[in-house]
Amino acid sequence: IKKLAVLTSGGDSPGMNAAIRSVVRTCAYHDIECVGVYRGYEGLIEGDFKPMDARSVKGIINKGGTILKSARSKEFRTIEGRQKAFKQLIGANIDGLVVVGGDGSFTGALIFNQEFDFPVMGIPGTIDNDIYGTSHTLGFDTALNTVVDAIDKIRDTASSHNRLFFIEVMGRDVGHIALNVGIAGGAEEILIPEEDLGLDRLVESLNRSRKSGKTSSIVIVAEGDKIGKNIFELKDYVDENMEGYDVRVSVLGHMQRGGAPSCFDRVLASRMGVKAVESLLEGETNYMVGLLNNNVELTPLEKAIKGKSKINLELLRVSDIMST
Ligand code: ATP
Repeated sequence: IKKLAVLTSGGDSPGMNAAIRSVVRTCAYHDIECVGVYRGYEGLIEGDFKPMDARSVKGIINKGGTILKSARSKEFRTIEGRQKAFKQLIGANIDGLVVVGGDGSFTGALIFNQEFDFPVMGIPGTIDNDIYGTSHTLGFDTALNTVVDAIDKIRDTASSHNRLFFIEVMGRDVGHIALNVGIAGGAEEILIPEEDLGLDRLVESLNRSRKSGKTSSIVIVAEGDKIGKNIFELKDYVDENMEGYDVRVSVLGHMQRGGAPSCFDRVLASRMGVKAVESLLEGETNYMVGLLNNNVELTPLEKAIKGKSKINLELLRVSDIMST
């Protein structure tokens, strides 16, 4: 391998820039060329490439988002689109590809490899932490800190007005963000897709804590939770079935995806970039790099895509005990 390409695809996450920087600098360290691909698979199909050297990634480790831009590409889902992408790579003498993205991006990379036998390596970049084969995806830790910061601020106003706040957080179909920020933000209840609490038990529990002397409460709702799916209906139901609280909703939205990456995410991105490039140089392909027991290890892309990332049951228990 003499020349690698790197792209960011799917939803952006803090730490993607740090990963790009790491890939580029690891290439420079091993004296091979590196090319940045703009707008994910869209740019791959169009040949939107930019040669990158060690100096071209200065000043980005602390920046959120991705300097290479991200996109969703319909065309890459077709064989014709992937053929165009392959031609662009061959035309530019590129012989390996690092994809920073989520499971959709990995599915695309795997199919591309199977069709054209082109070496690919994945780096998990998403705030949702919904990927098997890594305890932390890039951006997860930063998002947790961003959300906890927001919860702290909402709590100030909640406690000044005897309010009950439902705060919706991201996380797709999993409750990793909700569970962690719920514990860290001192939430009364945490609604996650993995655990069906049910409306009645929720109201019961909120009433209990109201009677025990709590004057304000925060309930964290994962966007993928069954009863939290429509958070405004949930609010209306609780409003009708509880007394003594002024019930409010706060949907945090895309602010959760932005901001400067945390120290943890910068270090993780740097480690993952090194591992991704060096694995390709060693002739490996179709893997995702991930953090397992604090070691950076490879998981086959197929497993990373199909496997379910499970929530930590111990955290569930801790959150139950903390809301006593
Ligand atoms: P996030 O989890 O943040 O949304 P993601 O990588 O899962 O990130 P997707 O939109 O699912 O985001 O996928 C990104 C891109 O990967 C798609 O726009 C498409 O170009 C490509 N892709 C996804 N699935 C396939 C597939 N089955 N075949 C080919 N390409 C695919």
